[in-house]
Amino acid sequence: MKNFCDTTQSRHEQRDRLRDKTRGYLKYLRDRAVKENSRDTNMERLQKIVFCDIRKGYLNGQYVDRIVLFLRGSGCNLANRTGGCTFCGFWDVTTFGSKIKDEDYMLQVENVIKDEELNFSQYPIVCMYNDGSMLEESEISLNVVLGLCRKLAARGHVKRIVIEAKVVDINRKKVSQLREAIGSREFEIAVGFESANELVRDHCINKNFERQQFETNYHILKEYGITLIPLVMVKPPFLTESQAIEDVVNTLEYLEPFNLQRIDLELATIEKNTLVHELWECGMYTTPRLWSVIEILNRKEVLGLKTPIFLSPPNYTATAYDYSLNCPACSDQVIEAIKEYNRKWDNSVFDSLECSCKQEWQKSLEINIPNIHLLDQIENILEKLAHARNFNQTV
Ligand SMILES: [Zn+2]
Repeated sequence: MKNFCDTTQSRHEQRDRLRDKTRGYLKYLRDRAVKENSRDTNMERLQKIVFCDIRKGYLNGQYVDRIVLFLRGSGCNLANRTGGCTFCGFWDVTTFGSKIKDEDYMLQVENVIKDEELNFSQYPIVCMYNDGSMLEESEISLNVVLGLCRKLAARGHVKRIVIEAKVVDINRKKVSQLREAIGSREFEIAVGFESANELVRDHCINKNFERQQFETNYHILKEYGITLIPLVMVKPPFLTESQAIEDVVNTLEYLEPFNLQRIDLELATIEKNTLVHELWECGMYTTPRLWSVIEILNRKEVLGLKTPIFLSPPNYTATAYDYSLNCPACSDQVIEAIKEYNRKWDNSVFDSLECSCKQEWQKSLEINIPNIHLLDQIENILEKLAHARNFNQTV
């Protein structure tokens, strides 16, 4: 992949053009989502989380249950401004920018705590996600986030609180207030870092921040004893399977010197009203094969990269039309091995996996590697998509 940052004028112009095209398309999709889904103003629903998921995580060397609360949110503020990330379909389960009152957010979590069936007190790790950024004032006020943190920190069984936020929303003032609110509890902020490659981040994901900003945040959070967990996307749109593997491995290499506690790999799913869904429907995108995931983990091992990797389960608020899979004969077995890897961080769990589909996957890595600049590759695909969908870029 020719992914160097070309500084010539024509490349700058191409990048502006690509950004406009991608954002125009994404904004059209987000508007379509609003038309398809009536704005949810049912007060009772606004006081309940979308759903909660029980997942696993490490706490002081113990593999424990963690509870993930998917708050009903007003939606990522970028969905309105830039169309948001190319793969993210969470917009469809939000209130599409309609403000959710502070007290409703508080009630969402209070209702979970009160839920006897859930038995909240058995979860030492509590994760709160809002399908956007918990540190973006227009989505959820900082006062609410601080209030929720205080509420959780006051409960003896909660040892760690986790939130998600955008890299651009983190600053020293917010971080110091968060530390004050949580006292001595462990705190983690997961951020969508996606890729160390600026072109991939900007044009395949539609996330526009400098690596420098991530690095600054890392140092601020470290100062306050808060853990930064980067989320890395496996196979953003416009990349071939082999380019996607290379992109993740390069990203892991870039992140290694930070001595992070963990890196979360996010396996792409297909969610409605996203650019990825459009490409997938037109046969121009497939989700990554699980063999590629194993390949990434094996290459990480060979490179001697020590930062632990966690493979996030593809279980989100928005319905997924497709996931990372292999063939029907081996998918379940490989998924089990990946779960085992999450628990042991030991690549030997993959040693005994074999299936005839592995050869097909290997062949797929050798073909379709375009020998052109990544920006040209993206532009070609976008043009093909617009043509297939009869999409007028000036919309
Ligand atoms: Zn198979």
